[in-house]
Amino acid sequence: MIHQTALETESMVSFDHQPRTRLVFGVGAADRTGELAREIGAKKILLVTDPGIVAAGHAEHVRCQIESAGLQVTIFDQARENPTTKCVNACMRVAKPAGIDTIVGLGGGSSMDTAKGCNFLLTNGGRMQDYWGVGKAIKPMLPLIAIPTTAGTGSECQSAALIADEQTHQKMACLDPKATARIAILDPALTLSQPTRVAASTGIDAIAHAVETAVTRKRNPLSLMFSHQAFKLGVKSLPEILLKPTDLEARGRMLLGAAMGGLAIENSMLGAAHAAANPLTAHFGIVHGQAVGLMLPHVVRFNGQDPLIRHAYAELASAPEIACVSDGHDQAWQALIERLEMLLKLAEVPRSLAQCGIKRSILPVLAEEAARQWTANFNPRPLNRDDFLTLYESAF
Ligand SMILES: [Zn+2]
Repeated sequence: MIHQTALETESMVSFDHQPRTRLVFGVGAADRTGELAREIGAKKILLVTDPGIVAAGHAEHVRCQIESAGLQVTIFDQARENPTTKCVNACMRVAKPAGIDTIVGLGGGSSMDTAKGCNFLLTNGGRMQDYWGVGKAIKPMLPLIAIPTTAGTGSECQSAALIADEQTHQKMACLDPKATARIAILDPALTLSQPTRVAASTGIDAIAHAVETAVTRKRNPLSLMFSHQAFKLGVKSLPEILLKPTDLEARGRMLLGAAMGGLAIENSMLGAAHAAANPLTAHFGIVHGQAVGLMLPHVVRFNGQDPLIRHAYAELASAPEIACVSDGHDQAWQALIERLEMLLKLAEVPRSLAQCGIKRSILPVLAEEAARQWTANFNPRPLNRDDFLTLYESAF
């Protein structure tokens, strides 16, 4: 009997990839912010950032670069982790009277999300809830320049703004091609200021993006190129960064890997580890990267029961030469799980739900919510509430 290979299946998937973001990579690339903004016609800029980035001196540095190019800057520096509609509205109140024509998002995923959220409301009106879903904005949006200071979310290469409803705490994924950054400035020097725990959890998130995108239903040869390269860069660099935080080369590889992970998500979406992680963050405030990392090996074991998916994992493991496909899919799949376990240990990710203070009695509630997550639809093996319960039990 001839088995259809994973690659044959993938080549059949139709896709529509439109490169939207110019990537400017290199140490000191942030010094070009003003020049690049001027190139796209900016005159009045809104700089969206958070208090930590102000304290690290990055906001002042970027502001000076913009002003020295002869452009005006208005700053909103109150972006919050897991930003809510309240945070976006506060940003709007600063942006609107300033008559801005361009937005610069500087920081981690939260600054980017707030910048994108503000862009929706500023250009299309209404409330954030109106844009929950795909392609809900009618009018063109302002050009966005994204400057990440963490290597994790890959938001600088994605069309999604993740904003939580202030009342219900429901995380709303607002996706629109118009919200994608026009330019992403990837400057490894900016990521040096990340505290080790942030570098660890965002790094695990970036690696999880590579692992999940490599097997989703929507994966295609192009998204796989990004997934495999993101995985290769992340797996090598994260241990180096944790060992030597000043290693600028490793920081650069990690930043590039995270951006490629974002490009992979843009083309193939995510899977069950993210679906299972979101309720953990919503109920218990577990940091996104830690929640995803905690669930990831369990999802890889679950998905790998399918021979085609196991093959896809084996190919992923081959990218950084953790294993070789020709050694056998089982062996490569196991080697991948072992490497993930090792990275999670290194990043000090909690290894059980019980360790996070979660009670077994809440697991059915979490399973119900995980099954309703949009991203669960893209997991290569379909999951229902009972499957999520089994995953949570195995992670307990
Ligand atoms: Zn993630």
